[in-house]
Amino acid sequence: MNLSDNALKVLEKRYLGKDEAGVVRENPEQMFRRIADAIASSNSQSSEREFLAEEYYRFMASLDFLPNSPTIMNAGRPLGQLSACFVLPVGDSMPEIFDTVKATALIHQTGGGTGFSFSRLRPKGAVVRSTGGQASGPVSFMKVINASTDAIKQGGTRRGANMGILRVDHPDILEFIDCKMDLTQVTNFNISVAITDVFMQAVKEDGEYDLIAPHNGEVVGRLRAREVFDKIAHNAWANGEPGLFFIDTANRANPTPSRWTYEATNPCGEQVLGPYESCNLGSINLERHVRSSATGKPEVDWERLGRSVYLAVRFLDNVVDANRFPIPELAAVNQGTRRIGLGIMGFARLLMRLEIPYDSEEGLEMAEKVMSFIRDEAERTSQDLAKVHGPFPYYEGIGTRKRNSHLLTIAPTGTISMIADTSSGCEPEFSIIWYKNVMDGTHLPYTLEMFEIVARREGFWSDGLAEKIVQNHGSCRGLSEVPEKWQKVFATAHDIAPRWHVRMQAAFQKYIDAAVSKTINLPQEATVEDVEDAYLLSFELGCKGITVYRDGSRHNQVLNLGTNA
Ligand code: UDP
Repeated sequence: MNLSDNALKVLEKRYLGKDEAGVVRENPEQMFRRIADAIASSNSQSSEREFLAEEYYRFMASLDFLPNSPTIMNAGRPLGQLSACFVLPVGDSMPEIFDTVKATALIHQTGGGTGFSFSRLRPKGAVVRSTGGQASGPVSFMKVINASTDAIKQGGTRRGANMGILRVDHPDILEFIDCKMDLTQVTNFNISVAITDVFMQAVKEDGEYDLIAPHNGEVVGRLRAREVFDKIAHNAWANGEPGLFFIDTANRANPTPSRWTYEATNPCGEQVLGPYESCNLGSINLERHVRSSATGKPEVDWERLGRSVYLAVRFLDNVVDANRFPIPELAAVNQGTRRIGLGIMGFARLLMRLEIPYDSEEGLEMAEKVMSFIRDEAERTSQDLAKVHGPFPYYEGIGTRKRNSHLLTIAPTGTISMIADTSSGCEPEFSIIWYKNVMDGTHLPYTLEMFEIVARREGFWSDGLAEKIVQNHGSCRGLSEVPEKWQKVFATAHDIAPRWHVRMQAAFQKYIDAAVSKTINLPQEATVEDVEDAYLLSFELGCKGITVYRDGSRHNQVLNLGTNA
């Protein structure tokens, strides 16, 4: 098995089975067998079970595909909870709120991440009838979940990740937008504002919009949309939060509107989910789907990619049945939608192999070509499964008759891309040489091998070059010894202008029924207007949300973002 040293370290730390004394008792081969056997056991025929167990094993062991972390950690083990993403409802009463706190703790114990909309909670200061007192408002209850998350720490394997969402027309919106400006507060949450079409229209026209108390529907105030928009952009410019969640865009793509309206996403935004809905993810490693053409030029191996998509959909659909949940509501909804999230990793490496710059029209075209191909193959597979087993039980006749309500997503792949030793999700490389934050502040060094190979082959490698790249923010752009073609091909996140980041996210979103996890990187000198420009473009291009990060604006991220040397 071709695992890098860094991959082995990650596996040892988090995924390989350990005995009670904490000694590792499983090797990577046994780990992949454990997962493959557990997932294939969802099939009722024994011949199919055996066949698929072998196929799944090879699929993972070759690093062509990896499922999300909870599947790697829990498949074939007592916890048996296999999904990374959850959304839990937050009702406007004490019993409902604390039921959700409990469900959150149980999900975090299994390595899942949870998203919440706090939009149904009555605003701060509203009357509480049973006590005659005053409600403490959404932000105070976020703090309760935050404290409980601190106490759980996901059994030492993974820190509990949460997403908190509030509608832009909630009366407490200004407090919410500021709730993370003090970086010591609600540290276990990412936050996003649910942005409505009405609000965006008011921004364009420089108009006002209504604030509505959710518990009685009363209009309790009005705000100037541009002031709120500026405030969000200013805070995101200052420290990366809040993000935006385009809630009406998301609901236009809802295949089960009589069940629910979407109100929230999972922690990294790639899954917009109904209440108690979950999603198990898996990502195809695109770097492993390249071959040499007859003329010796590298090209996408479409045949192999088609086979991988088929197998990945079978795998993830089997995960739906193999999954075990800590509370019954989750199990019921999981069976109702049979939602899966097939995505990619290694996209930036694929482009480099094909010698295509990330920030180019050709780069966007390749994204669309790859993703539309994956979508077509995935839909075909899910439709074929529906012919045998029926469509997902919550099917309302909207869209094609598939086995799964949703098929596609792009996850951050923060950990699994390290196991596969490739670039994460659809993101560009962070640097040509960099350090990655794993857990407890451990830093692992990564060097882009492909760059060194090309530089040696093309004759521009020198001993001093690596050091110059580190000094140049991990980038080779602007270094005179690197030929222009290769400066373009070896693009890093900071080299790429914000508008290209947004356009790339939108190019993928076109073919994806769930959403895309992506960070829009901005240079340190970017302005608040640059942030607003990215917001407007992403809304216009049909993205379901946007997260920006201005270089150097924050030192500690909630999730596993790369850190610079
Ligand atoms: N997630 C989480 N805790 C973490 C990292 C991720 O709960 O520390 C959840 C979160 O919902 C995120 C999803 O897992 O959106 C997928 O993240 P990623 O692809 O980085 O996970 P991996 O499978 O690579 O560990």
